[in-house]
Amino acid sequence: LDPNPERLSSAERELEKVLRPQAFEDFTGQQKILENLKVFVQAAKLRGEALDHVLLHGPPGLGKTTLSHIIANEMGSGIKITSGPVLDKPGDLAGLLTNLEEGDILFIDEIHRLSPLVEEYLYSAMEDFRIDIMLETGPNARSVQITLNPFTLVGATTRSGLLTAPLRARFGINARLEYYDAKLLTTIVLRSASILRTPITEEGAYEIARRSRGTPRIANALLRRTRDFAQIKGDGKIDVPIAQYALNALNVDEHGLDEMDNRILLTIIEKFKGGPVGIKTVATAVGEDEGTIEEVYEPFLIQEGYLMRTSRGRECTELAYRHLGKDKNGSLSL
Ligand code: ADP
Repeated sequence: LDPNPERLSSAERELEKVLRPQAFEDFTGQQKILENLKVFVQAAKLRGEALDHVLLHGPPGLGKTTLSHIIANEMGSGIKITSGPVLDKPGDLAGLLTNLEEGDILFIDEIHRLSPLVEEYLYSAMEDFRIDIMLETGPNARSVQITLNPFTLVGATTRSGLLTAPLRARFGINARLEYYDAKLLTTIVLRSASILRTPITEEGAYEIARRSRGTPRIANALLRRTRDFAQIKGDGKIDVPIAQYALNALNVDEHGLDEMDNRILLTIIEKFKGGPVGIKTVATAVGEDEGTIEEVYEPFLIQEGYLMRTSRGRECTELAYRHLGKDKNGSLSL
């Protein structure tokens, strides 16, 4: 149940496509962002212009890719999808840009991972819909300017802090996606279950929802696994006992923390006296990539009050001690 999209299996990718909302109407939550986007989309359509460039940021699995597809659908335009690390050279980007039709959406995932050269190339494209292309090399080298069709760049990032100021400044619309509460996730689980034709009780859906780390991607993945348990261990219907059985088997605890969440907290408490300790040290100790801890695990642990980020490093809170049944000396409290 890895929340990191880079590690999704192909079956999980297929499932995501099937469950992906297609219109503003099917998208649950992020109400403020949705309201604003609807206005901007409507206004752009009225004026017959491309939508302003949109920056979406927030942890993985909260709906950034989904929203960019919805924007394209609602604008009635095409969408091209790429990502920061894939765009190696300015030439890769030029190829994409010159193929965009008027009003098309260019979605760049992980936009914080663009190379500086490619990023700089993007500036004039975003601002004036123009790019310079080098013709020939050596003494005959010259550049020609190409005018692009007006398009909308939708950039997604899990690390908005890593975006350069000039790039950030070129987005007219900037939206930060928040974790979902259990009620919203229940709606999402019920919708997904109906698409998958899986019978489920409202309480069963809530049980999955409240243990999904506030993340639709995880809620859908847990639903899929729970469905397996319901089929093999029960009568195919998902209710609270089956959901609890499945979630426990998947090592998702009562509060929705998964194995890695708990390992991070336990390591800080047992090996580093509860902190403060640097993120690099934590990453090495738990055997997980530093970026993944910062983008995926830490934001949720901080939001839920288990972890604090201080100037001297990461520190576990009282809640983390209580959650793991530890006292301040790191021993088991009875
Ligand atoms: P991100 O791009 O932020 O990593 P995605 O847009 O790929 O996340 O969403 C992951 C999965 O969660 C998709 O299958 C999508 O259907 C589902 N999902 C995300 N947000 C919502 C939502 N608000 N309502 C319903 N499903 C959602």
